[in-house]
This record gives sequence, C-alpha cells and structure tokens, in this order.
Amino acid sequence: MRDTYNRKIDYLRISVTDRCNLRCRYCMPEEGVPSIGHGQVLSFEELFRVARVAVGLGVRKIRLTGGEPLVRKGLLAFIERLCQLPEKPELTLTSNGMLLADQALALKQAGLQRVNISLDTLRADRFEQMTRRPGLEQVLAGIEAVEAAGLKPLKINVVPIRGVNDDEIGDFARLTFEQDWQVRFVEFMPVSGGLDYSPASRVAATEIIKVLESIAPMTRIERQGPLGPARLYQFAGARGMVGVIPAVSEHFCAECNRLRLTSDGSIRPCLFSDDEIDLRTALRRGCTDVELAQLLLGSVATKPERHRIAEEKEPVRRRKMQGIGG
Ligand code: SAM
Ligand code: SF4
Repeated sequence: MRDTYNRKIDYLRISVTDRCNLRCRYCMPEEGVPSIGHGQVLSFEELFRVARVAVGLGVRKIRLTGGEPLVRKGLLAFIERLCQLPEKPELTLTSNGMLLADQALALKQAGLQRVNISLDTLRADRFEQMTRRPGLEQVLAGIEAVEAAGLKPLKINVVPIRGVNDDEIGDFARLTFEQDWQVRFVEFMPVSGGLDYSPASRVAATEIIKVLESIAPMTRIERQGPLGPARLYQFAGARGMVGVIPAVSEHFCAECNRLRLTSDGSIRPCLFSDDEIDLRTALRRGCTDVELAQLLLGSVATKPERHRIAEEKEPVRRRKMQGIGG
C-alpha cells in the first residue's frame, strides 16, 4: 500500500482492548475511562479478518497493543492464528509487563517474536505514584521471563516526565552496559485533556540526548532495515543500545508506515488525528473482503502528510492513548 505522499504502509498496530490494569498518569485518569461495551469491541474473529485482509494488502508487521493487551482472554489463540498467515508477518506486542512473568513463555510458544515493555521508573514508590498501582516487582519479574523465553531483542520504553522521573534517564541508560536491551526514551505526547501532566512536562529529545552524552561516549547506530521512529545510539563498550523517540518535537511523519486499528473497530491513519474509518459497521453487515480492503485503502489515502501537535496550544484528541494503543 502506498499513500498520497508515496509512503509505503506495511505496519498495523492492533489495539485488542481499551482496558488496563494500570492507570498511568499520562495515559488515563484515576477512575479509568468509560469502557467500551463488550458488544462494541471487535471479537478476535473480526480482528483476525481485518489483519488477514491488511496482510493481503502488504502489511508485514503487526503489533498488538491496548489498553493492556495481556488482560484480554484468548490472546494466545489470536497470536497463533496470525502466525499461520502464509505471508508470515512479524508479530510483536507492547505491554506494561505486569502479566508477563506468567505469560512470556506461552507467548513465545504461540509464535510472538518480540516484546516492548513500558517502564518509567526503577523505584517501587515512584512506580506506584506514576501508575497509581503497585507493581514494579511484577514488571521486573516480567522482564526476566521475557529474557528466559527468548523474546529478543527486548525493548524498554521510558517516558520521561519533567520533575517526576527525568532524574532516572541515566539509570535506565546505564542498564545497556550490562544488558543487550534497547532502552528507548519517548517524548511525552500531550494528546488528551484531563490528565495529570501538562505539555510543559515533556522532556524534549534534545535534552534527553544531552543527558545520554554526559554518561559515556556514544555512537549513532545507522539502521539496516526500514527506518523506525527511534534514533539509536550505543555507548562505548555497551551490550545494548539507547534510543530517543522525538514523537512531538521532530515528527518522523515522512517515515511513517503505520495504520492503527482500535479495539472498537476503527482504522486510524494517524496517531495524532481523530480522523477514523469505521470498519465495525461494515464487518457486522457482512461486507466482503474486497469491501474491507477498499476501506483500508481509503484510510491509507487519508493519511495526513504530517502532524503539527508541537504547534498546538491545547492538543486534545477524542481518544486517550489507551484507546489508541500508542
Ligand atoms: N499498556 C501497554 C503499555 O503500556 O505498554 C500498551 C498500551 S500503551 C497506550 C502504549 C505506549 O504508549 C506505552 O509505551 C506508554 O508508555 C505510551 N504512552 C501512553 N500515553 C502516552 C503519552 N501521553 N505520551 C507518550 N507515551 C504514552
Ligand atoms: Fe495502561 Fe499502558 Fe496506558 Fe499505562 S500506558 S495506563 S499501562 S494502557
């Protein structure tokens, strides 16, 4: 699939649920968000059908996300089915890590290739403050289980928030001396109102890089494969890599290859735009695969050239991040 700006679209992020077992302050309000009713959430059969048609159109990478994808029952069977697609798309998952200690091995056996774990602090009290739930030990056990299961390379995503956890950038980065992980720092994206952090809480990529440079000499790693959003570096003598994702300040829209499917069945061509195409209605009135493909292609055709979120004073989107999948 090619969009209007000749970008190749071959990556689909599927949000399998809007529910979550944490309440990260940059993502969800304390009380959670009004959950989508069961009837509105696509069944795994429906999600699989969209994925199959998208793969038929050239999607070669699928990431499962949420909410927290591991809270949805039946995920393993869904992964097994995705792995049986003849095109063999790369299959990855983004998780907060809380349930990985129990599930990592089964995920690997079902055919999952890699996991990204979101973790913003290495301090138990701060974890509870930032996610409104205790759980650091559980996430650390989840990381161990992912390593033991061989879901590699492990990527850890950290969102530095000014005055909250930005003093831990160095602690996270130094983990890569011993571990062959990719530790990536993602700029806070102020995409929705009603959250605890304001746009001023964002620690810009340039500031993050300054902190990294103060730790040890590092070299920029040039990507071999398709460009992703992360700018990657390696400290001299380190086993792993550090990365910076300038989601707001730099926009990597020219390289964007993504479509997003929300758990209630909308295709979203841009993380930062509320323009969506409803697939659920079509699916439930019995559309053909050709019609479904046309809807997907229609969505690709509406992909905007770039976002302008950094220029907006109050960037508020209809869905919060847990409803989009990151
Ligand atoms: N629950 C899973 C998790 O936390 O990894 C998957 C869904 S979560 C919405 C996906 C990613 O979005 C996480 O890495 C999370 O840190 C990130 N995220 C959520 N809200 C964000 C925000 N306002 N700015 C930047 N990243 C955000
Ligand atoms: Fe849940 Fe992930 Fe959002 Fe945190 S970032 S509240 S873990 S969906």
